[in-house]
Amino acid sequence: MPFHRYRRGVVIHMEKRYLFGPVPSRRLGLSLGIDLVPLKTCSLNCVYCECGRTTRLTVARKEYVPVDKVLEELDRFIRGNPRLDYITFAGSGEPTLHLHIDRVIAHLKKHYPQYPLALLTNGTLFSSAHLRTQVKELDLIIPSLDAATEEVFRKVNRPHPALHCAEVISGLIDLRREYHGEICLEIFIAPGLNDSAAELAAIKTTIEKINPDRIQLGTLDRPGAESWVREASPERMKEITAFLGGSTELIKEPDPGTKAFHIDADFRETILQTLRRRPCTVEDLSRISGVHQAEVQKYLRHLLSKGQIEMERRKRGTFVKIKNLP
Ligand code: SF4
Repeated sequence: MPFHRYRRGVVIHMEKRYLFGPVPSRRLGLSLGIDLVPLKTCSLNCVYCECGRTTRLTVARKEYVPVDKVLEELDRFIRGNPRLDYITFAGSGEPTLHLHIDRVIAHLKKHYPQYPLALLTNGTLFSSAHLRTQVKELDLIIPSLDAATEEVFRKVNRPHPALHCAEVISGLIDLRREYHGEICLEIFIAPGLNDSAAELAAIKTTIEKINPDRIQLGTLDRPGAESWVREASPERMKEITAFLGGSTELIKEPDPGTKAFHIDADFRETILQTLRRRPCTVEDLSRISGVHQAEVQKYLRHLLSKGQIEMERRKRGTFVKIKNLP
């Protein structure tokens, strides 16, 4: 799968399977993503997930993708000395499900210490002391926590049956105690699900126990796994931010000055131009644009919610078409 590498203004194409971006991220600036699990492998099945419903709900830690291949791809990409604010474990599901995430971290820290490393995680597996040890060299961990009670955890995050809210929280408390990097706790507000006074009070008490460096609040900004999930109003988000207090802030949009912002614009234009010419599958669009399938899906869900595209099932799969073409 080709993707773009920018070096001294020259776009270079190279094959990619396990990396995506660099993409301008709301939290991390210009970030190169590493995807360690196939779409969509996760220990949760969140109602708001922008990648759609979880197709492999699991807590089994395995070598989902071959580490040696991931390292080869990283070496090929980083050899060009790209400008990056972060290298981030993220993508098609839960990265800590990969049993050898520590090998990738150790390789990057040894050979490319100039790049800070971040992990976007649902935080459900930190009750494992082994995993906590594996991630200790990271610079930033962004775990999510959308519930502090079992009932709301099951409603919002629809976890694997082996997971329990209290155990997830105690894993995060242990992580804080043992890990010396920065922890930024992310909370997704789903109106009617986790924003009752009682749940927010429980979340606030839990945050005090976890003691993260920062807290970021987000709400739906692209269609989620379930179409009935709504976004919280800006006023409500401000109220909740004030209630949680301390270092709580709202997740911001990416800085339009971020160097790769134009990559995002190019990507959107490529998708629309391609679809104006012919219907395509998600795989086609990913190959043509050089952008990860999960990112393509997120954008298509946005176009779908705006009524700009429609889906059609054919022999080769589900095709995406522009609506109302003359
Ligand atoms: S939002 Fe994250 S944790 Fe939740 S289902 Fe999607 S990938 Fe998994």
